[in-house]
Parts: sequence; C-alpha cells; structure tokens
Amino acid sequence: MSAKVFIAQENLGTVLDGLSRKIRLWVPASAGEDKHGVEFVPYRPGLAPVLDRQSTILPKKVMLPQVEKLFSYEYLKNPEDPSKVRVKLEEPEDFEPTLVFGAHPCDVKGFFVFDRVFTQGPFVDGYYKKRRENTLFATVVCQEADSACFCSSVGSGPADQAGSDFWIMPVEGGYVVEALTDRALPFMDALGTAPTEAQETAAKELHEQVARQQVGNLDLQDSVESFKTRFEQTAYWQAMAGQCLSCGICTYVCPTCYCFTISDEMKGLKGERLRSWDSCMFCTYTAEASGHNPRPTKLERYRNRVGHKFSYFPEKYDGMIACCGCGRCIRSCPVSIDIRKVVQELKENACVCA
Ligand code: SF4
Ligand code: SF4
Repeated sequence: MSAKVFIAQENLGTVLDGLSRKIRLWVPASAGEDKHGVEFVPYRPGLAPVLDRQSTILPKKVMLPQVEKLFSYEYLKNPEDPSKVRVKLEEPEDFEPTLVFGAHPCDVKGFFVFDRVFTQGPFVDGYYKKRRENTLFATVVCQEADSACFCSSVGSGPADQAGSDFWIMPVEGGYVVEALTDRALPFMDALGTAPTEAQETAAKELHEQVARQQVGNLDLQDSVESFKTRFEQTAYWQAMAGQCLSCGICTYVCPTCYCFTISDEMKGLKGERLRSWDSCMFCTYTAEASGHNPRPTKLERYRNRVGHKFSYFPEKYDGMIACCGCGRCIRSCPVSIDIRKVVQELKENACVCA
C-alpha cells in the first residue's frame, strides 16, 4: 500500500466511481445551473467535484443531517384489553462507512467543536458518535482564501491537516493524495499510481507555501473576559447587530453551530421522532412553555451567538473557540454583519463600569 498516490485529472471521475462502490461518498458540487454556490451532495457517476473553492453548504449535514429520524414508534393495543398499550420502537441503522471527498480544512475543524458537545460528555449522542466513527475525510489544501476567511486567527490554517484521513494537493495535471491515517491506507492503491518525484516535490512545495500563509488577523486574546464586560452594553450590541434580520443563515452555514430541535410526527398510532436543525437566531428557539423568552429580541440572540463562540464555549471547554474562521457567516449574511468586527471591538473601549 502506498502512502502517496497521484490521480490524473482525467481519471478523477473513474476513481470516484470506484470509490463510491466501496464506500458512501459525498463530494462538493455546483448547486445547479441556475444556482450559485457549492454544496456537499452524495456522489453519483458523472458528478464533477468542485475542489478549488470553499463550499457554501458544508459537510455538517453528513454528520448531523438537517432532518434525521431518531426512531419510529408504534402504539400496539392489546386486543383483549385496549386500555393496555405497548410501544414498539425501531431505531434506524443508517451509519454505513462514509467518505467526504474534497472537504476544506475549516469544514473538518468544525467537527472538533461538535465532538466536545456530542461525544465527550456529560451526555453522548449515539447518532453523531456512530457517524463520526464511520466517516473519513479527504481534505484538499486550501489555496483560495478570500477577504472573509480568518482561520489562522482561531488556531487553524489553510494547510491544517487536523481531523483529516487523506490530504489532497492539486499539482499540474492532477492531484497528489497522501494518507494521513491508517484508515486511509486500504483505499490508496485504488486511487492512483505512485507520484513521480517532480509531482511529490510540487505537492510538498505547495503544502509548505500554503502553511506559511497567515489568513486573517483577528486578535482574540481576552475575548472571554472582554465579552463579559460588554454584556450589559446595549448600545454596543445595538450598533453591532441592530440590522440583523433573524434569518438564521449565519447558523445554518456555520461548521460549528449545532442547535437542533426535536419533534414527533404522528399519524394514527404510528409516528417518527425527528431531529432537525434549529437556530439560536430564531425568536422561538428559547421560548419557554410558560411564555417567557429569555432572549426576546435579536440583540440578545446575536449577543448570545458571539458569546457562545468566543466566551462561553472556550470558558467551558479548555479555551476551545467555537469558530473555525471559515467566514461563511460573513459571506452569507444578507445585511453584511461581520462577526470579526464584533469580536475585534469587544475589547476596544470596553468598560467594566457600564
Ligand atoms: S461563526 Fe462564522 S466564521 Fe466562525 S465558524 Fe461559524 S460561519 Fe465560520
Ligand atoms: S445571517 Fe445576518 S441577518 Fe441573518 S440571522 Fe445571521 S446575523 Fe442576522
């Protein structure tokens, strides 16, 4: 088995066809002729992956589907005595081995945040955990940072291999692919042939060049404390998020946002319990059964989003910032709210006496 192979550009389709027969495969693809953007979709023969730019809709949905059935249930009445009822439960078994081909480093980095919440207690989410264990990532080195990216500011970078099993480096005529983990090794021989010395050198140089890049210059020192001093400063939050539309797009495109809701869909005596993405930017998210809502306006909701990522989460999880600097929320926000500006200004003129 080789630790590095070369896939010629003209063979990529055949290689992916072969891979998709061995493992469930997701790739980033153009969202459609009349649509903009790139989204991760299940691979089908003929689909050309888009590897040279970040996706709009990321592989979050592979690990945490936008809507997933947690289980189905059925009430079974005793024919002799209908007042006696049993409940029959059936869990899905949709956890087959999966490969996400063409993720970017920030896509993969986001799952480190998910891991802390879903797999490292105090409660373990079995659905997420099983998918996480069964999913491999083939990540492409990121050559196209744009003005919204700031991954280096949050401890990552365009050549960050953390969490990836394969590393894809575009070189002339194709891709050099390297196995980063033992899980990748069994697939290598089927991917391509050994790279030439020139291809290996080109890939190494590309990796080194990209690794030197500093993407973004957000200063996050003391953001935990700065946020606290700003918490009560309504005028500050009004200025930062006053125009927010509460549309929730920033959370749906975010690799580190994991809010969900659970609902039962029932017909007759049968039903399904569903988990679906939700957003802390929606006014109903924190509404309590009593009618009280602790975050009644968009000001409190936006403040919570910033605080969760840059203050509460790092305070709770050993300094881990719940943001991978992908910039998707900045690019997608219809009113151009820039989370970097909010965080940058947290400590500027912050006053503990306000
Ligand atoms: S908060 Fe924005 S920049 Fe940070 S991970 Fe989420 S979408 Fe990306
Ligand atoms: S995308 Fe912008 S407008 Fe929409 S909820 Fe997020 S911050 Fe508000």
